[in-house]
Amino acid sequence: MSIKRITILGSTGSIGRNALAIVARHRNRFRVVALTAGQNIDLLKKQIHAFSPEIVAVADKQAAHALEKKIGRRKSARLRILFGQEGISAAAEYKKSDFVLSAIVGAAGLVPGLAAIRAGKTIGLANKEALVMAGRIMIQQAKKYGATLLPVDSEHSAIFQCIEGHKKSDVRRIILTASGGPFSGKKMRELRAITPAQALNHPSWKMGRKITIDSATLMNKGLEVIEAHYLFGLPAEKIDVIVHPQSIVHSLVEFHDRSCIAQMSVPDMKAPIAYALTYPDRLTDVVHALSLHQIGMLTFRKPEMKCFPCLAYAYRALREGGTMPSVLNASNEVAVHAFLKGAIRFTDIPLLIKKTMDRHTVQSDKTLPLVLEADRWARETAKELVQKL
Ligand code: MG
Repeated sequence: MSIKRITILGSTGSIGRNALAIVARHRNRFRVVALTAGQNIDLLKKQIHAFSPEIVAVADKQAAHALEKKIGRRKSARLRILFGQEGISAAAEYKKSDFVLSAIVGAAGLVPGLAAIRAGKTIGLANKEALVMAGRIMIQQAKKYGATLLPVDSEHSAIFQCIEGHKKSDVRRIILTASGGPFSGKKMRELRAITPAQALNHPSWKMGRKITIDSATLMNKGLEVIEAHYLFGLPAEKIDVIVHPQSIVHSLVEFHDRSCIAQMSVPDMKAPIAYALTYPDRLTDVVHALSLHQIGMLTFRKPEMKCFPCLAYAYRALREGGTMPSVLNASNEVAVHAFLKGAIRFTDIPLLIKKTMDRHTVQSDKTLPLVLEADRWARETAKELVQKL
């Protein structure tokens, strides 16, 4: 068995850390050749020490200097330290890498993700925002450059596993499960008073801050609907969402004969990360065994679109197409950031997104500059709206 040489874009985030935990347990199968991070230099230093990559890239020049200082001159002579979007993209297309885990959070992951695609890599895609913004471009370029996109998002990994070995033409629809977040069943007036600390306390999944807030607003599921549209080439009407608070069934595929196949495991991101890392093989004991008799009951219900309208806005963005998904994503990133800073209320997040979308005139999403311009416009507009709230 040959050793897989891997690059992790966003190694200090939640997905990156989980991936390195898998690598640490299977040193005979993986070698880390490149890591990228934003500003978390302390953790990156520890990761460099533990995994000896050949290249690391950080957000900017100051961070690169700080890192160099921390690891000392002798060590940095053997290690290439790069910075900025160019540096991170250079890590993404690094020749010696067989597999790129794209795990940068948000729009910042788009350009490095595209660099990995153009280098024809096999990519484990955790950065759903990139697909939401520029899914059409990413899928086209993956075809053109012979890159393979493997889903890391748990729902999409589930769908991918359920479709394996079946004809795509036999798929009637896919059903993404959603935990419903911590505030499922709450009234509008209760939602208004929610604090960032309450929203960051997810009932079933351990994840990063941005995605945890997205889960609480149901925007995460909205982004995942758009992500599924691109990954599996299905229209909006063939993608459904069901709330499943236990997060055991990670998603289902319904075939034309009405037979459904679901994928289950305990909720632990190591499972879908490992599957992407080793596909089509599987590692042993990646997560704890699923003990259904201990769980006892799995429940399902319809999502509450009225109190959590973000999911409906995502379907709207997908239907309107073009640059609208970019605008949805950018305004959401601004809103989540403002909420975490205490500048707006929890219930202002969907309000801000809707207002930004209402002001947008849909443009074509055929080229990267068009998509990036829509992203920039939406951020500016959403920031203005934050001031006015
Ligand atoms: Mg997910």
